[in-house]
Amino acid sequence: MTDREPKKERRTPAQSWRGTADARPTSPTEPALRVFMRRLREILDEGGDGQARLDKIVLQISGLMVAEVCSIYFKRQDGSLELFATEGLNPDAVHRTLLKRGEGLVGRCAELGIAINEPDAQKHPAFSYRPETGEEIYHSLLAVPIMRGGVALGVIVVQNKTLRVYSEEDVDVLQAATMVIAEQILSGAVAGVGTAVELSKSLAAVIKGEVLSEGIALGHIVLHEPRVAVTNLLADDPQAEHARLETAHERLSETIEDMLRQEVLSSAGAHREVLEAYQMFASDKGWLRRMRAAVDEGLTAEAAVERVHNVTRAQMLRQNDPFWRERLRDLDDLSDRLLRILAGRTSAAEDLSALPEDAILVARTMGPAELLDYDRAKLRGLVIEDSSGQSHVAIVARALGIAGVGGAHRIIERVSTGDSAIVDAETGEVHLRPSPEVIQAYSDRVRFRARRQQRYQSLRDSPPVTTDGVRIELNINAGLLVDVPHLDEAGADGIGLFRTELQFMVAPSLPRFEAQVEMYRKVLDAAGGKRVVFRALDIGGDKALPYVRHPAEDNPALGWRALRLLIDRSALLRLQVRALLKAAEGRELSVMLPMVSVAAEVDHVRAMIERERAWLKAHGSSGPATLRLGAMIEVPAILYDLDGLMRRVDFVSVGSNDLMQFLFAADRGNPRVGGRYDVLSAPGLRALQSIVNAGIRCGVPVTLCGEIAGRPLEGMALLGLGFRSLSMSPASIGPAKAMIRSVDATRVAARLEEMMTRSGIDIRAGLKKLAEVDGVEL
Ligand code: PEP
Ligand code: MG
Repeated sequence: MTDREPKKERRTPAQSWRGTADARPTSPTEPALRVFMRRLREILDEGGDGQARLDKIVLQISGLMVAEVCSIYFKRQDGSLELFATEGLNPDAVHRTLLKRGEGLVGRCAELGIAINEPDAQKHPAFSYRPETGEEIYHSLLAVPIMRGGVALGVIVVQNKTLRVYSEEDVDVLQAATMVIAEQILSGAVAGVGTAVELSKSLAAVIKGEVLSEGIALGHIVLHEPRVAVTNLLADDPQAEHARLETAHERLSETIEDMLRQEVLSSAGAHREVLEAYQMFASDKGWLRRMRAAVDEGLTAEAAVERVHNVTRAQMLRQNDPFWRERLRDLDDLSDRLLRILAGRTSAAEDLSALPEDAILVARTMGPAELLDYDRAKLRGLVIEDSSGQSHVAIVARALGIAGVGGAHRIIERVSTGDSAIVDAETGEVHLRPSPEVIQAYSDRVRFRARRQQRYQSLRDSPPVTTDGVRIELNINAGLLVDVPHLDEAGADGIGLFRTELQFMVAPSLPRFEAQVEMYRKVLDAAGGKRVVFRALDIGGDKALPYVRHPAEDNPALGWRALRLLIDRSALLRLQVRALLKAAEGRELSVMLPMVSVAAEVDHVRAMIERERAWLKAHGSSGPATLRLGAMIEVPAILYDLDGLMRRVDFVSVGSNDLMQFLFAADRGNPRVGGRYDVLSAPGLRALQSIVNAGIRCGVPVTLCGEIAGRPLEGMALLGLGFRSLSMSPASIGPAKAMIRSVDATRVAARLEEMMTRSGIDIRAGLKKLAEVDGVEL
């Protein structure tokens, strides 16, 4: 054996007891771990100050584990770790040694929430040496996070001079200690320590995320499905705890099976796949066995759930496989559900009645249906730790008009129910416990926004006509039935883009034929005779359906998506087309194809639509009175065959979000490159102009339904290029109308023409100047 090879010392806690005089099992049958926990509890219950008790705890643990060092670090408000107590390190380092967030092995342990077991810690690249601690003589290190509700409050560390590999039992002992300590800290029993942890929950703070759904909301935090705090750790009657655990576990399995059977969306908000994963977990024998073993050691059923959750979570975090990372969510959720059952609360529903009038919902993750469970009238804002603007819940938040911020990293550990908060879903910031000055500033902004909305409201019945008399058709983009009423509220001409895939994304399984017919019929009914352009399913890329298998791709935006996918999966398209034809019986039906790359693709789909039409006729359905088939212009190649495309379609719509990302080769979802190019530059504008010109040449109506349609300055440029029809989010209709009614389209066209022919001109600045001079409302 070489010097470098760790000397494996294996001690079980029971063996280690021999080393301690004051914590011996009181009876031969009492589990050693339980005795240890009881002893820790006794220490914490003793009088005296918090520091003295922590000092006793580290002494106790170092004795039990035959470790030369035992230290406790607690997390401070800024995420750094402060050495609070030590046995073995230099006592002067206590309250002086600070590790930055994620620094060293200890910081890493807290950051990742996992145990770190290193026989030669000093050789580890992440090791951070602190001379004031005198730790240079210690080699082996075992660090275990002090977790509560999936959040690390601190870290317990043991160290030895030898190259020791700590055993699973050692990890168990420290885990047990962390549970007792976490419980005591959160109950405020250890004065002076609790403040360091709780401080982060009392000060003002700003968390930066990304905008999910635009708006500003002031209100009070409500935690979505708050965790049940486990306060009672040690069981008086182990048999009774076993019975409670078994009953709760059975109940959990039944609930999941029920959800699966009925595929209910309402409270679960989960898709079938998710539920199946839950079921797999819930019926996992190992999970139940580990919880039973923890009860055997003397824990209550709740403490057993919490303990197994913490340990399993740490093991799963060590896996690099994304599959296991995803399963982590299932584990968190299942443990939470089990704890709620044990606490006699079966769902979050009973808390819904207690929702404040100005609720700001904070969730780790959330499904779209779960959001719909809440009372819309009381919801002001939504903040989610793990979510992007593309997520399903973001789509629903936008449809409901709730200000939403996603990617709010670690917000849950920094808030409590009832805290005041402001969601600024213009900048993506969440202000926690804001000062009166900040509240005042935001109240002013909310009033300003409301005044602006009122002004737009007053334009509702005024036609969108430019000062030189050009009538512009204004349509809204929609995707859910709840969007359709915006058509009338905004005073728009129709729905220029109905993203049918959104209905599919919020459904737990592929909507069947009848369900689709009903969905489309409701949309047409709600539109009350105004034109609705249904876009065929635009899935793939960033829009996945949970029930459609999709291969991993290196470049999903350029991959198997939209029309390409529909042509390959013809059954999917056929079903949708048939449902649309049936729903629009006796009315006009407009269908638009996403991402047409080659004009001939339109022939393929048209032939298929005609076959479906004939089939429906043969089965007694008259089909739509008129059928319009359109193509989205999103792929640059089609710009070079516009006449070929226009010959085959009844209308085109420019999907400028995709067209510009492909034209400038800049991912629309990547903030590093997304904002690098300017649509209002000669290349972007020329591409758009060529489409308008082709439309005029071929007599085919042209519209534009990308985000730029809703931005007043860009919209003004589009009028100058000759666009006479635009489609945008409902909230943009007011600002667009105000711009249109104050602009002279002929003057913009002339100025634009002049700027586009001169190289190096800042067209955006030129247009702004023109708007200023002419008094265009932007
Ligand atoms: C577009 O690409 O401009 C468009 C409207 O489609 P989506 O944003 O749904 O891809
Ligand atoms: Mg698109």
